Amino acid sequence: MSVNEWNDKKSININRTSRISVLREGGQANLQSSDEPINIQKASQSEGFVNIVARVLSTKPDVIVKRDGSGELHVVRGRLADDTGSIGMLSWSEFDYEPGTLLKIEGASIRRFRDTPEVNIGDTTRVEVFHDNSFASMEDLASTTSSTISGLRNGMRDVEITLQVESWYQRTFTSNDGSEKVVRSGDVMDPTGRCRLTAWCDFDPKPGDFIHLKEARVQSWQGSPDLVIDDLAQATNLESPTWEKIDPGDHWVDVGLTELVSGGTRRGIRTTGTVVLVTGDSGIIERCPVKLPDRERKCRKRLRDGSCIDHGPQRGEEDLRIRMVLDNGVSNVSLLLSKEPAEKFLGMTQAEVAEKISKDGQESFLTSVREQSLGMSVSVNGLALIDDQGAMLLADSVQGDGLTASQAADMIIEKWEVVM
Ligand SMILES: [Zn+2]
Repeated sequence: MSVNEWNDKKSININRTSRISVLREGGQANLQSSDEPINIQKASQSEGFVNIVARVLSTKPDVIVKRDGSGELHVVRGRLADDTGSIGMLSWSEFDYEPGTLLKIEGASIRRFRDTPEVNIGDTTRVEVFHDNSFASMEDLASTTSSTISGLRNGMRDVEITLQVESWYQRTFTSNDGSEKVVRSGDVMDPTGRCRLTAWCDFDPKPGDFIHLKEARVQSWQGSPDLVIDDLAQATNLESPTWEKIDPGDHWVDVGLTELVSGGTRRGIRTTGTVVLVTGDSGIIERCPVKLPDRERKCRKRLRDGSCIDHGPQRGEEDLRIRMVLDNGVSNVSLLLSKEPAEKFLGMTQAEVAEKISKDGQESFLTSVREQSLGMSVSVNGLALIDDQGAMLLADSVQGDGLTASQAADMIIEKWEVVM
């Protein structure tokens, strides 16, 4: 086989000489490579069985309740590291090695929990104490366990991270068994971005506080990887700030479009590109007004021919949104402007847009938006949602640099006195 790269997309080419074997669905991918141990960074990207040499950073007994109700399984969770990084571990067999022990592990399997790889140790895995005086010490490996917001991925466990609290609130709700429960959550930041933190314990930091979390887990909420703690012991309020206080009103981390689309979902980013497409469904749309029973929230799905996919024919509520494609010459991303950023970008209120469309028609409206924005270089602040389907930017705001492509070209010509 060969792998080709074209426009930042990789394709696998199966040649005449490639041998193709069909793997049965749900079966174990059998990619047994050489017996040489591989490093943790490589193991994290592997599927199937691997051999590694790693130091035990932490272990903790845990119990998994079988889904069929037939009982409990005693397992050991933990974390392994070498100088390329660290990885979670789940042992289904006895595992009584102290943190600090260097191990050679043969025939462990890499499985993914959501987006996060984990080393699984089972009955057929061989684990033995290994001796190598040049292997990184516990102190050297301590830094491999601390994370930053930009590195968070859905399904991560054992996350150690320092954060600045932006906001904090608590909400009381009635759980399924009828009892009152409190959930606390807020927005948190570090120099690489921002995300949400949820605490299922009575943790009450104040906005502006610096906090340190241990053994936090990452759970995806609407596509964004967010932090969760379950126990007050996982959180510490820090006495002194870890970095110069970030101003939450203007905390946008610049990320190039290509880096953005090849990474994970991130909040609080700023990226730039050129508008290359405005889709025909931009403008006034109708949303489903049905109130959802479980939450204080409306359905808000877009009506097609006056009908919601879940709730049938409805009298829709008008909303404004603009869909574009942003491109930097290498990568592109779908860009969505909801009402508020769309109004600012267009310089028109939703009512003015509705009036223009009813007076001149949808096509005329689209033509004016395209004349205003195609070829324009813009900077977008917002949330980047990245999944298998592709990349989408939800804009908080979009600022044009005020120049169309031809104006920008004119400026360059003028500046450099280029004669065309
Ligand atoms: Zn609906």
